Amino acid sequence: MSEKDPDISVSSFDFDEFIKSKLDALKSSGSYRHFISIDKQITTFPKFQYINDQGISMQATNWCTNDYLALGSWSGNVDISNETTSKVGTGSGGTRNISGSTIYHRQLEKRIAGWHKTENALLFNSAYQANQTTLCTLGRMIPDLIFISDEENHASMIEGMRATSNKKLIFKHNDVADLEHILKTTIASAPKIIVFESVYSISGTVTPLSAIIELAKRYQCLTYIDEVHAVGLYGNTGAGMLEKFGLERSVDFINGTLSKAIGVFGGYIAASNNWIDFVRSFGSGFIFTTSLPPSICVTAVNSIHEIKTNQVLRNDFFKNIVILRSGLAQFNIHFTGAETHITNILIGNASRCKAIADRLLNEFGIYVQPINQPTVKKGQECLRITITPRHSIADIQHLAKSLNSVLNQKIIITGRSSRLSIAQIEIVKSKINVHFPNLEIEVKLKDSKGDRLINIPLHTQEGIDFFTEDIFNDLDQGVADIAVHSLKDMSTEHFFGDHTFAVVDRAEVRDIVIFNSNIIDNIKENKTIRIGTCSFRRELMALDFLKKALPQLSSDIKLEAVPIRGNIETRLSKLKTGEYDGIILAFAGIDRMFKNNENATLITGLLHDKKIMVLPLIDCLPAPCQGAIVTECLKSNLFANEVLATIKDVKNHEQCVAEKRIANNYGSGCIQKFGVSSITLNQQETILAKGIDQYGNEFEDWYGLELNLDHVHPDHIISSDQLGFTSIKTYSSPGKIVGASNSYFISHISAVNEIAPESFINHRVWAAGTTTWYKLAQLGIWVEGCADSMGFKSIHSLFQTELMSINPDEMKILTSESSAMKWANEGFQTVSTYDIQYQSSLIDKYKLTSSKLIFWNCFAHYDSVKALLPEEIIHVCLPGKTYDQLKELGINPIVFPTFDAFTKWKKKYTLQYIAA
Ligand code: PLP
Repeated sequence: MSEKDPDISVSSFDFDEFIKSKLDALKSSGSYRHFISIDKQITTFPKFQYINDQGISMQATNWCTNDYLALGSWSGNVDISNETTSKVGTGSGGTRNISGSTIYHRQLEKRIAGWHKTENALLFNSAYQANQTTLCTLGRMIPDLIFISDEENHASMIEGMRATSNKKLIFKHNDVADLEHILKTTIASAPKIIVFESVYSISGTVTPLSAIIELAKRYQCLTYIDEVHAVGLYGNTGAGMLEKFGLERSVDFINGTLSKAIGVFGGYIAASNNWIDFVRSFGSGFIFTTSLPPSICVTAVNSIHEIKTNQVLRNDFFKNIVILRSGLAQFNIHFTGAETHITNILIGNASRCKAIADRLLNEFGIYVQPINQPTVKKGQECLRITITPRHSIADIQHLAKSLNSVLNQKIIITGRSSRLSIAQIEIVKSKINVHFPNLEIEVKLKDSKGDRLINIPLHTQEGIDFFTEDIFNDLDQGVADIAVHSLKDMSTEHFFGDHTFAVVDRAEVRDIVIFNSNIIDNIKENKTIRIGTCSFRRELMALDFLKKALPQLSSDIKLEAVPIRGNIETRLSKLKTGEYDGIILAFAGIDRMFKNNENATLITGLLHDKKIMVLPLIDCLPAPCQGAIVTECLKSNLFANEVLATIKDVKNHEQCVAEKRIANNYGSGCIQKFGVSSITLNQQETILAKGIDQYGNEFEDWYGLELNLDHVHPDHIISSDQLGFTSIKTYSSPGKIVGASNSYFISHISAVNEIAPESFINHRVWAAGTTTWYKLAQLGIWVEGCADSMGFKSIHSLFQTELMSINPDEMKILTSESSAMKWANEGFQTVSTYDIQYQSSLIDKYKLTSSKLIFWNCFAHYDSVKALLPEEIIHVCLPGKTYDQLKELGINPIVFPTFDAFTKWKKKYTLQYIAA
């Protein structure tokens, strides 16, 4: 730009900046086009030389030429072109109107018209120009004309229609029903033209020609077909798809190119004399441009003659396509376009598409131009492979092998760079290796926003996906094929978005609290216990729980939640500094660290001297999908999809999907104060959602607990403890535990009533449920965890984790005499510390005999009144031992997860009953 004149006010628009920003955006989207300069030789075609980025001359094979029949390198054409040029000269020297119409132009137009069985034809300098000019001329000259266009039409047709103000209606690609719907709903009297192609150049789809033509006749529409990718190849004489299907005379305008299968240059339309005269007279893009060089016209005539007469040429072409496709299939390379000569390998991501094309060229000497936006829609980026009769079998084998190397043999995994994430990636890798033993797996690690905001509580920050967004963005950028995350960190919006997901592993879902060893002293000294946590859910549930579950060694235990951030090892290290008395972590995370020796040593060191508490599942409900590792890929990355489908853990995946959906009912994001977790009650799959929802309402909802009763009066629904049992307890060896052990499972508080609490110091104590836990805590006993009243066996997998390392077979179960036998029969070590006898003589017999549903608080209740039970009674109980014992007797009890859940259900049922 010239220097500014201070007296004139001028635009401050910065053109250079504008250009740069546009090109930069294009480059970062991966759609920026790079051309390679091909040193084309007719003798070596389709092989050619090119200079690579390092300035070295390289050889490659062209696998994306549109010179389908290699006629562009055929000596017959080259000779005639040379001869004509020597005779006629190079250029035509004018527009068709002004000295540029030669005998050769008319000869070619007549030949084209004859080929397509139309009255006439009109040459253009390209099929693009023919499409654009013809459609634009029709639109401008017939202002009421409505364009009805296939959504995948070529840019040249779209540009032609867009240049007019006519109405445009788009029908779904090749969808005759949609087209008919449009025709039906458009003013019948308006002039219309249906615009479509016969062979779609990228997808390789073939149009249902008869159906469209039939509709056009019925609704009296003009028809315009682009046969650019069909002329020279299909039909008896190679005139295209209309010829192949015997429909030559049923379309008003045919568009074709001389530049692809014909191997020369230029384009045309073929139509009636009237229409040709019309476009010739009004079409700006025809009138105001220099006509084709005469030698081009002569060579095109020669080429068309060759196509019409030399069947071998086209036979060889189609034979090669079959060989190519069987070569691809052999390597399990998916492609579309089977109906035509176009072989399309969907990549679905611009950057990846370019990266693959680059590798093919640089490493394997295979030239396939990546097809990116705007040629295809975002997500449809692909490699479009074309072949000629000149490609040899060896060329085809080399292509298939190279594609296999690039597409199938390597997968890039991305994830966070934390130790835990690396451990998760290792799990994913080993699962992939089982099914794809030869697959090369590269891991690319990166930090997430959550890692960078290391000192800030995330629930104070705007946004979602703090730990996952940077990672899944790598997929869109084509940097990686598969992303690995902790599913609990991922937003519901993203999980239900348009990527493919597969949950591949799910470990223990509970939370765990790690305390410093001086916790007991601090409680005794009535100090405020500081718990490090960074989640509202944990703050709400765990602190409330711990108040009752920590050994009650002072009159009022005071707890305070203190924010803590960082990965597992940094959080654990913070315990040492004395900033915190305890920290809450996800059990699965720590446990996964033990899978790798170095991490295991580190964590073992950090846990040395610590006291642990595994938080109960129901009272301290975990976050939705806690413990699950999810893998993610783009839908269009076919190989990655295949890998994910193979390693998917279907049951866990479905469970997680259900949890995420349910969570969505209550709110989402890391600020939420509720948990959602799948809970298996014996065989029955349920989901519990509990906490405070996004509107601040407290809730507790069980999903999958179905108990529908028909007209049972609420008075006839009872629990066995309402019957008025009296009981006598006796203690076998008060004061001590016979046959001491390192670890105890306390099945009921009665089992320790007569035992000095000190007996449990330095022992690992587990409780059957939280009621027992609280009572043990009141005795000053440290409890490590409980079975949530779901039975001893429900926590076996938890015991066997490396973090817990409890052998359930060596654990002593403290229980009553009558139950001890049952446990012992199952091979467990038991100590019966007491016995309880229920007296049924004083029970409310009327209540019992008139009941229709009874909740058994314990098996002994059932045992002592079974003779009096009405026949049709419905049995209900908790999932633990009572269930097992009833089941053994052939009873199929309905299971409730907690007594509280049963009480709530009864209340709701009663209200419904009264309302009805
Ligand atoms: N129509 C379709 C469907 C095409 O694919 C192309 C070119 O790729 C054209 C028209 C334009 O053809 P030409 O190269 O002759 O301008």
